[in-house]
Amino acid sequence: MKTSSYHYKTLKDSPSDAELISHKLMLRSSMIKLNASGIYTWLPLGLRSLKKVENIVRRNMEEAGAQEILMPMVQPSDLWEESKRLSEYGPELLRFEDRNDRSFVLGPTHEEIITDIARKTLNSPKDLPANYYQIQTKFRDEIRPRFGVMRSREFLMKDAYSFDINEKGMKESYDLMRDAYQKIFNEIGFDYRIVSADSGAIGGSASEEFHVLADSGEDKIIFSDDELFASNLELFGEKSDQEIIDRLHEKDGKKYSIKRGIEVGHIFQLGDKYSKSLSLSIQTKEGNINPLMGCYGIGISRIIAASIEQNYDQDGIIFPRSIAPFEAIIIIIGEDKNLLNEAESLQNDLTKKGIDSIIDDRNESPGKKFKDADLTGIPFQLIISEKNHKENLLELKVRSEGTSFKDNKKNILAKLKP
Ligand code: ATP
Ligand code: MG
Repeated sequence: MKTSSYHYKTLKDSPSDAELISHKLMLRSSMIKLNASGIYTWLPLGLRSLKKVENIVRRNMEEAGAQEILMPMVQPSDLWEESKRLSEYGPELLRFEDRNDRSFVLGPTHEEIITDIARKTLNSPKDLPANYYQIQTKFRDEIRPRFGVMRSREFLMKDAYSFDINEKGMKESYDLMRDAYQKIFNEIGFDYRIVSADSGAIGGSASEEFHVLADSGEDKIIFSDDELFASNLELFGEKSDQEIIDRLHEKDGKKYSIKRGIEVGHIFQLGDKYSKSLSLSIQTKEGNINPLMGCYGIGISRIIAASIEQNYDQDGIIFPRSIAPFEAIIIIIGEDKNLLNEAESLQNDLTKKGIDSIIDDRNESPGKKFKDADLTGIPFQLIISEKNHKENLLELKVRSEGTSFKDNKKNILAKLKP
């Protein structure tokens, strides 16, 4: 891959209505482009990061025993009538009719569809436990789409749904997903907290959210100083922050503090809410039972923005290696044809080590090339210049450390772990 034949276009400024740093940097580095309010195209650089997040999520779902499926985005309204959510969900649910006047909705979530599938396919206790997941586009007609892909109307979500025979099984399935989520968010390099949460329009008995800590977060979360207690502040109703802190402190003498968070995941124990209303039942020796469900969401597209909120400086994005669009950029400084040959041979060496890279072979000034590499946040910058080339040296700049040094190719390659 080379920048001269790739959509590697950076912008000096971002539109003035972009408030969040992640939104600005994603636009400036051409990861996304707006089509309509809350509706974006993922351009090549952005899509590479998005696919890396998808792959981390997919691998951890498979390891936890969940099976991938793909459900329709267009869902018949009848199913939402059955679950009673057609009236409950509100204007975020986009409704429309087909040419035969049949009513449909664009899926904001998939409890109805998966339960419809389960009642058609799960028919004996031997079929349980079961857990299905998908990575798919959701649509929610958000009242105030903002902050780019952080709160958009169309976005990519991973949603998983578990089915168990009893309460104990449901809790085991829930814990498996909870562990998988921790592995995923650790791999992505987040500083995050798990907090108790409100189940909202999804419903059910218990739920927890995964929050990436960031001052720009829309949610407030409250912790005890030993971190044994953490909760979304929305669970405490209308009281002021200080009142809530004081009330909790009176109970156990602990210190409490409030921080802002970005919700990147949410897991629920649903119980029989959907299996009952949509008549999913299984015959057991003890009679017919409604399987107990759990559902588990991750905001795949929001993760990219949340990661940038935690990893940037005045020059741009500082992507963690696991989700960077490329792990390395090879920057050619100079016009000598030998430099391009050297870059290509270096790219081959990197590929052999399992490190993905792009060569910046554009006819641009060194300053512009360095600025763009900093802006797009690629973790390793490998600089090939005429002077270095003559001395058989390569320069490596590590974006997160801001430091750079020169050495021969063999030693530089040895520094880059696969
Ligand atoms: P929020 O409180 O942020 O509106 P939610 O609680 O309605 O989110 P869930 O139904 O729990 O969202 O969806 C699962 C995940 O999908 C969320 O944890 C979040 O990461 C992501 N998500 C939800 N709404 C959006 C959106 N409008 N844009 C991008 N990601 C979203
Ligand atoms: Mg939620």
